[in-house]
Amino acid sequence: MNVYDSARIADMLQKEGYEEAKKQEEADLVLFNTCHIREKAAEKLFSDLGRAQAVAEERRAAGLKTVIGVAGCVVQAEDEQIIRRAPFVDFAVGPLMYHKIPQILRDMTENNEYKGVVHTDFPADSKFDFLPENKAQGACSYLAVQEGCNNFCTYCVVPYTRGAEYSRPVADVLKEAKRLIATGTVELNLLGQNVNSYHGEDEQGKERDLAYLLRRVAELDGLRRLRYTTSYPADVTDELIACHRDIEILMPYLHLPIQSGSDRILKAMNRRHRSGDYLRIVEKLQEANPALRMSSDFIVGFPGETDEDFQQTLDVVNRVKYIQAFSFKYSRRAGTPAAVMDNQVEEKVKKERLDILQKLLFSNQEAFNKSCIGKVMPVLFEQKGRHKGQLIGRTPYMQNLHIETDSANLNKIIEVEVIDATTNSLSGKEI
Ligand code: SAH
Ligand code: SF4
Repeated sequence: MNVYDSARIADMLQKEGYEEAKKQEEADLVLFNTCHIREKAAEKLFSDLGRAQAVAEERRAAGLKTVIGVAGCVVQAEDEQIIRRAPFVDFAVGPLMYHKIPQILRDMTENNEYKGVVHTDFPADSKFDFLPENKAQGACSYLAVQEGCNNFCTYCVVPYTRGAEYSRPVADVLKEAKRLIATGTVELNLLGQNVNSYHGEDEQGKERDLAYLLRRVAELDGLRRLRYTTSYPADVTDELIACHRDIEILMPYLHLPIQSGSDRILKAMNRRHRSGDYLRIVEKLQEANPALRMSSDFIVGFPGETDEDFQQTLDVVNRVKYIQAFSFKYSRRAGTPAAVMDNQVEEKVKKERLDILQKLLFSNQEAFNKSCIGKVMPVLFEQKGRHKGQLIGRTPYMQNLHIETDSANLNKIIEVEVIDATTNSLSGKEI
């Protein structure tokens, strides 16, 4: 979502006449888009800001002005504190207010009186109505269709930083999708914090779900691949499962985070699914499309997690055989219910569990990648590789694949035979 937001901010700035600087020393404006999901992500901002200030000081000595701005969820969480902690920050906007950036910059440069402005409202109007039209930045594009969350998992800041669930109207999504396709996109990834609780209005004002939206988007001429992320397990409907059977361009790879395999921990996390529900959904999805493979997020060391709870997470991993996954140590986030639970798990135990889990996840990932050797797969080549003549693309399963080939194949889908595999990537040759 932050990649998408950053691209939209760049669109706005370009419209204002800004161009991308090659390096920070040359930049008149330095803007950080930030994540607050775990402590490490949030703390990184303050060290990056310190470095930006040092560069701004050097530029000032040379008679150059630098505007420093911060966007995103750290701003939402810290509010005015952000200016107290980093007084040299010129402006800060939360994730629902970044459409204000052009006006803030105009006010600052014209009147020079808006120093230290902070915008963290959850506005009644959607920011999407104020953003300029965007163009594809490559063969694969993200498209935000839903934002915010009403689930309040006890460890998570998202409902506080991104606010309540909001779904963009169907017509807006289709308009943006068409524009992205017309400017070069062949793969679309529909985004939302809980994309499968999408409930946008259609052209007649009727509320529609994600399954409906996927079918409408899949009909657009020129689109070759479709994905959506991230889904909340309890909101996977039979209609959505049927999409995996019916929509040919819907890729056979789904990110469906379970977080923990222990029902006791899932309950304490306030997740609306238990491990049995989750496994049944995976089964139904794979009945709808037997080629479908899964990825997930995991949290280890949630307050109260015992060895037995952790073993149940490993059991789920052994059952589902994820082909990719993101796993994290539980991070205590101020203001969330889990942060004040009195049964916090020791850091050392969290680390041990994360090591064990990641070893298992990586071995599954490697086994899947190796099982692809000798197979022929359609690969969408998205970027040039490090070596001359090399292109890097993605398989339907989101695996990175590199190949020596004509650069004319960039942004095309080519049939490739997989000749080698590691944990993180594949290599192939044209057939
Ligand atoms: N809406 C999605 C996830 C969005 S947050 C879902 O419910 O699955 C992305 C991931 O960050 C989560 O899946 C979770 O694994 C991780 N995460 C969120 N809060 C965390 C915390 N306090 N500590 C560790 N990981 C966290
Ligand atoms: Fe956070 Fe996802 Fe839970 Fe919402 S559903 S609170 S975004 S982890």
